[in-house]
Amino acid sequence: MTAPGLSIAVIGSGPSGLYAVDGLLRKLPGVRVDVIDRLPTPYGLVRGGVAPDHQGTKAIVRQFGRTMGKEGVRFLGNVEVGRDVSVDELKGLYDAVVVALGAYEDRRLGIPGEDLPGVHGSWSFVGWYNGHPDFAGLNPDLSRPGAVVIGNGNVALDVCRILAKTGGELALSDIAPAALAAIQAGAQGDIFLAGRRGPVEAAFTPAELGELGHLSRARPVVDAVVLPEGVGDVDGREKPFKEKNLELLRGFAAGDGDQPRRIHMLFWAAPVAILGTDRVEGVRFERTRLEGGRAVGTGETFDVAAGLVVSAIGYRTAPLDGLPMDGGVVANADGRVAPGVYAVGWAKRGPSGTIPTNRADSLAVVDLMVADLEGAGGKPGGAALDALLAERGARVVSFADWEKIDAAEVAAATDPCPRVKFATVAEMLAATD
Ligand code: NAP
Repeated sequence: MTAPGLSIAVIGSGPSGLYAVDGLLRKLPGVRVDVIDRLPTPYGLVRGGVAPDHQGTKAIVRQFGRTMGKEGVRFLGNVEVGRDVSVDELKGLYDAVVVALGAYEDRRLGIPGEDLPGVHGSWSFVGWYNGHPDFAGLNPDLSRPGAVVIGNGNVALDVCRILAKTGGELALSDIAPAALAAIQAGAQGDIFLAGRRGPVEAAFTPAELGELGHLSRARPVVDAVVLPEGVGDVDGREKPFKEKNLELLRGFAAGDGDQPRRIHMLFWAAPVAILGTDRVEGVRFERTRLEGGRAVGTGETFDVAAGLVVSAIGYRTAPLDGLPMDGGVVANADGRVAPGVYAVGWAKRGPSGTIPTNRADSLAVVDLMVADLEGAGGKPGGAALDALLAERGARVVSFADWEKIDAAEVAAATDPCPRVKFATVAEMLAATD
């Protein structure tokens, strides 16, 4: 099917949105796609979520940049759906709307004390060290000893690793300069990484877990007693990963060294309260055991002192007027939200998988769209959105503008640092003049 006259809006310029754009261009030649993002910078989670020392993962932006530069695609940055234009307006203007918002709200622990100063969700904490403009002012206090990172997924590993690395180890990263300075001066000698289930149930992937064993001023500490003989009865596809994790943890348990920072891996520890009066002073954990795959409390508790707590327990898609929600995702059936409205990525399936997971997922939704959009077309599309945004005084950032921001960030860096990100939206906009 060719699709001249067909116009599609994609809300969000992260991996799931851009894989969808790529699929739409292939399957619907002639289609016009407008990619809308509330930030002046594209690439969503790749820029703001992927750890700053994982530059290899971030290199995917080159491929996404090629997609953005293709005929028929426009970037409309600094345009917030819900503020500058509504979902309902987009539905009226475009033949289809693809919701690729990601999941950018921290799940809550739901325990007493979680709002105390010094407790941060991983979205904001990661955003802070990754130079996300929403969190430039977070300024977490790292001057007190002890940190607890709650969660046994890759984000929790990222946070521990970044807290533990030296300036030298972070030289090849694009960590926010203010965060680098605060982390280097920080007092987090003992970092506790806490999982509410056991070593086999942890959601770590081996490559990321293995990185903890190669830090110059920190080492992981594991009590061999908690490590089982084998991984037991796990899904066949997951077995090799679980076995590799167990092997790595055995290596950590056998290791020694006098590195000044230690990452204590606590398993079977569910947080039940954040302790402190004016600010966080520690975390109370309850020991757990497994029952039907779930962690259940044993009634035995213990406390860990900490001046910093980061909960890395997953994310939710923030509700947006005009979109039905189902828990932490946009309500959808295989990506179909409503006639002409589709969801992809974390907004569709929740926060799981790696960046390439989104490719197959977005392409499957594109296939549904191609079938649904047979005979569609004729909505006013981008020109009408431009008129609406101009009327509302929106300051739209084009892809060419983003390229100026990009060039200025790269120019501000000294080798081997790949870029120095602008801390605020105002600075980004100034770079486009
Ligand atoms: P995740 O992999 O889902 O891990 C979340 C962790 O939080 C789990 O250990 C979970 O334990 C725990 N948790 C949830 N609720 C909790 C509670 N109330 N109390 C204590 N613990 C709780 O999520 P993520 O780390 O945010 O990562 C999101 C996705 O991004 C994952 O697919 C991840 O692999 C991916 N990612 C990949 C990379 C990479 O490839 N380098 C880096 C970062 C993220 P239970 O298992 O017991 O629920």
